[in-house]
Amino acid sequence: MNATETTKTRNLLAVFAHPDDETFICGGTLAKYASEGVDITLVSATRGEMGRRMGNPPYLNRETIAAAREQELRQACARLGIRRLHFLGIRDKTVEFVDEAVLTGRIEALIRDIRPDAVLTFHEKLGGHPDHCAIGKAATAACERAGLRESLFFISFGDVMEHPEPYGYTRGDIVKIDVSAHLEAKLAAFRAHRCQSEIDEWVWLPDREAVSRFGKHEYFIRAAANPSGREGHSLF
Ligand SMILES: [Zn+2]
Repeated sequence: MNATETTKTRNLLAVFAHPDDETFICGGTLAKYASEGVDITLVSATRGEMGRRMGNPPYLNRETIAAAREQELRQACARLGIRRLHFLGIRDKTVEFVDEAVLTGRIEALIRDIRPDAVLTFHEKLGGHPDHCAIGKAATAACERAGLRESLFFISFGDVMEHPEPYGYTRGDIVKIDVSAHLEAKLAAFRAHRCQSEIDEWVWLPDREAVSRFGKHEYFIRAAANPSGREGHSLF
């Protein structure tokens, strides 16, 4: 990195499906980059209003959950240091039914506005939930149209990408980020997503015990080939 690059503010765009995806899957990485001054924009396709968890004991209903989850996501963003939040206003559990060209176009417009240095989204096949796969597919297409495939990374669950071979990847396709200094922020964001996390008793243990449940690394898959073949440790 040269002197000019160090003075430019780096931008990161994360395009996910639901409130809590950002925290539960890659909250440590977002907190780390925010703490380093990276300007982070989060896009959430939905407000998570079809989530099955309604608080514990339940205190939300289908009418009140969307506003509650939006508020929780705003609090989680504050804990992680995410500066901007956009909702696409798509109904939860229907992202796969949205016209793909329209969805891709909306994300591409955001990309052209923000000009991110790194983009995070779901892998269109490994996303695990139809909403995740659909938003990942559209965000991937949008990055390709904007010429940003080199800056695109797919999020992954837990430490499954410590061994990427069963998924058709090698270590050179993986970026492994050390988040051990940012687990307190990740925990605070977990707790901000209260209606989703309060049924998980470990989240509410004393901080040190709760934090010990988190992995010290988060893993990302490069969308573009990596000529060096070596595992990476940075998204920039
Ligand atoms: Zn989700």
